[in-house]
Amino acid sequence: MIGVAVGVGVVLLLGLFFVFRRGGSASEAPPDSSAGWTLALRVEGSEDEEFARDVVARLGGDCRSRMAEVALEMLRLAPGATHFYAGTARALRCDLPGGAIVKLELVAPRPAIDDLRDVMACLRTLDAPRSASLALTQSWVDGQPLVAVDDDDRPGHRRCAFCRHSFVLSEFECPSCGAPVSG
Ligand SMILES: [Zn+2]
Repeated sequence: MIGVAVGVGVVLLLGLFFVFRRGGSASEAPPDSSAGWTLALRVEGSEDEEFARDVVARLGGDCRSRMAEVALEMLRLAPGATHFYAGTARALRCDLPGGAIVKLELVAPRPAIDDLRDVMACLRTLDAPRSASLALTQSWVDGQPLVAVDDDDRPGHRRCAFCRHSFVLSEFECPSCGAPVSG
């Protein structure tokens, strides 16, 4: 009888041990902020796509030693971006045909990025990643979807106070309704 009780007790303890172990490993899930992450911008239109290809031709591959230049070029691409991605996935998906997707893979602490304005802010802090590589990428069926850039979050743009059209900061009047820029 005692043997049975000890046996049951051991089985229960082992069961609890495994439950706690599993619980423990599940709570280790939060992403490692020092692990690799990906920043991607999709542009569309011959001028922007040509610029994107030129950036990758000049700075592509291992770009750790040229981060300042890469950040600057990504900042120049951002105002024209239709979609972006910032996260840990490497394979990306975009359901639109055409366009060019520039992908920067980094091993560096990942800042919180909610919209494309945050991307611009974070690029200024990417001074010393442990590794960095820049390339054009294609769209994969099982990849993480790129996010459409919201007009309100479009870097280098403002919204017309009258017709709500989004246009570049360098314009002095709304190209849609002709209202002058105020303020
Ligand atoms: Zn307008």
